[in-house]
Amino acid sequence: CWVCLGVFGAAFERRSPILDNHASANPLYERIPSIGEEPYDSFLAVPLVLAGEAIGVIAVQRQERDHFLRSDLTALKVVASQLAGSVDSVRALSVLSAPKRTVKSQSVPKVIHGLAVSGGTALGCSRRHRSSESIAELLSTVPGTTTLKDFDDARQRTANQIEHLQSLVVSRLPEAVSLIFSAHLMILKDQVFRSLIARCVQDGDTVGAALASTLEQFQETLLASSSALIREKVQDLEDVAVRLTRNLLTSEQSPVKAGASDVVIAREILPSELVLMSLENPAGLIPVEGAVTSHVSILARSLGLPVIITEDQSVLEVKDNTKILMDGYTGNIYVSPEPQLVAKFEEQLVSVPSNSGQETDIIAGPAATSDGEVIKVRANVNLLSEIPRIRQVRADGIGLYRTEFPFMIRNSFPDEESQYLVYSKLVDAFSDSVVTFRTVDVGGDKTLRYSTSAEANPELGLRGIRFSLRHRSLFSQQLKAILRAGATCPELRIMFPMVSSVDQFLTAVEITECAIRELNHDGIPAHPSPQLGIMLEVPAVVGTINEMAEQADFLSIGSNDFVQYMLAADRGNEGVKEHYQPHHPAVMRALAQVVGVANSMSVPISICGEMAQKALYLPFMVGIGIRDFSVAPSVRPELCRRLQAIDASRATEHAAEILRQATLKGVQDVLDEWRNGFSTSEYISN
Ligand code: PEP
Ligand code: MG
Repeated sequence: CWVCLGVFGAAFERRSPILDNHASANPLYERIPSIGEEPYDSFLAVPLVLAGEAIGVIAVQRQERDHFLRSDLTALKVVASQLAGSVDSVRALSVLSAPKRTVKSQSVPKVIHGLAVSGGTALGCSRRHRSSESIAELLSTVPGTTTLKDFDDARQRTANQIEHLQSLVVSRLPEAVSLIFSAHLMILKDQVFRSLIARCVQDGDTVGAALASTLEQFQETLLASSSALIREKVQDLEDVAVRLTRNLLTSEQSPVKAGASDVVIAREILPSELVLMSLENPAGLIPVEGAVTSHVSILARSLGLPVIITEDQSVLEVKDNTKILMDGYTGNIYVSPEPQLVAKFEEQLVSVPSNSGQETDIIAGPAATSDGEVIKVRANVNLLSEIPRIRQVRADGIGLYRTEFPFMIRNSFPDEESQYLVYSKLVDAFSDSVVTFRTVDVGGDKTLRYSTSAEANPELGLRGIRFSLRHRSLFSQQLKAILRAGATCPELRIMFPMVSSVDQFLTAVEITECAIRELNHDGIPAHPSPQLGIMLEVPAVVGTINEMAEQADFLSIGSNDFVQYMLAADRGNEGVKEHYQPHHPAVMRALAQVVGVANSMSVPISICGEMAQKALYLPFMVGIGIRDFSVAPSVRPELCRRLQAIDASRATEHAAEILRQATLKGVQDVLDEWRNGFSTSEYISN
């Protein structure tokens, strides 16, 4: 393994060529004099790719600017394609013929590859999430001399920490409310728990062993319950056990530092757990198996947490407290990295802003293409804590508020009043702009611990509007909370997710109108006529798009789900990621069709989801007529810059060319053609 740095590393990681005739101005420019590299300003690199895997990069550099031509790129591509096979054979031979004593590998940092979900570098010590093994390991390190008095002190410190976290929730994540810690505190203060441990100690056990056996007994009892809700409490129990044991191991008074330098490695993590974890500012998160478009990833980005998803199960073998370095730009995870590498990244840690909003060149005013087409770039919001950031990047209002996040991070269904309080905070912050509420979209990978039941095929199950229509009183409560919160909002929008028929939409409209009538009847201020829209996420909408456009006030393409359902490829399953291809010709054509119909009928249409934030697809989307995007707040400044470089009429031709393609490769080639025509810096940050 090797370290991929600079422009060279970017070509490797992205598996795509880079031609930069002014490389020294490139943010990724990095000269490494220690390997004898001379200064350069023109740079051309082509990755050596074999069976989809990058196995190296061939690069040429020149000192002067503007040296390379497109024909040089073509020539180097030919060389690279021939070289790749040879390099791979040599690699295989060298492994076979290598002497058996591979002493050197000890000193080489182990690199695990993954997919960076959110930029940012993290350095910390590994901690496996919810690993019973790691609790047992931790308990085994409790000294035999620990007394019951030490245990009681640790219990008190743990309770103080939890109460502190509880107060943090109120200020940082108002939608989560303090209730989420009640189970933790109850376990800690439980007298049976305390007396069982005391009895074991009196019978001659050490405190560590007493805690271990009591925990086991509690776990067994909880897991034997027929109620899923009670079985879920095992997680709270394990969480408390880890905190308590850490406090047994240290008498430090610090209230929250328990996880501050942790890189958490998780086979599976629930959104509610992620939110709790974020309160302790862990250094980073490494989920094993998962996907960029999964809701845990979306939430992690909202929380500003560096995340790298990996399929490499070996990361689960990493022992707790091992030093880990996460490069959230390349997706590399370094296990026990060399000090020089750590030093290098520590420099970057200081100089590179992550999700924290340090950009100084935020574009003021409306975004527009180079030929003056005005484009709305609104914000997706998942948590209220993102509000300051959204204001800072000057989003054109809220294009998608995923209302289910407050539902997902609590341990009970929020009532109308608590929803109203949360929604009011959002509306008040954007009192002069569009605010688009997406009604609760639970189901699929967004499970509510307390409400959604297990389904064999959740992505095709009781998701989105189906859930709301099944639970009408909950639906009506949510609508009322939105209508009340948005009473004076100049442009209140409500949209329904996962709609697959006009009938479903009309029923949702009826329920909304009924909620308005009931509020009016009770004399409660409410918005009298919100705009009601359909999220286009299911292929069925394509066949009925004319009728949907006729009925709806607006449409919004939820591209994450649209791609998933068009291609029948689970968006959260890394195992089928090669089949989840947004640029599939069928997806491109369906998008063009729905946008064309909406525009011809003058029904506002927007796009949200990951596709809207991929620079590669931007010219196509402008070309088919999308003038309204909704993206994560951190993406907005860059998206506006890229729009400025697009000529809308050229984009129309580009889109037409894409729509003529029948194969993925054909579409990819046309996308690449546009990309290669870009100036290099745009090409690079794709
Ligand atoms: C989408 O599907 O693109 C979307 C925006 O909704 P979510 O990601 O919350 O399912
Ligand atoms: Mg969706």
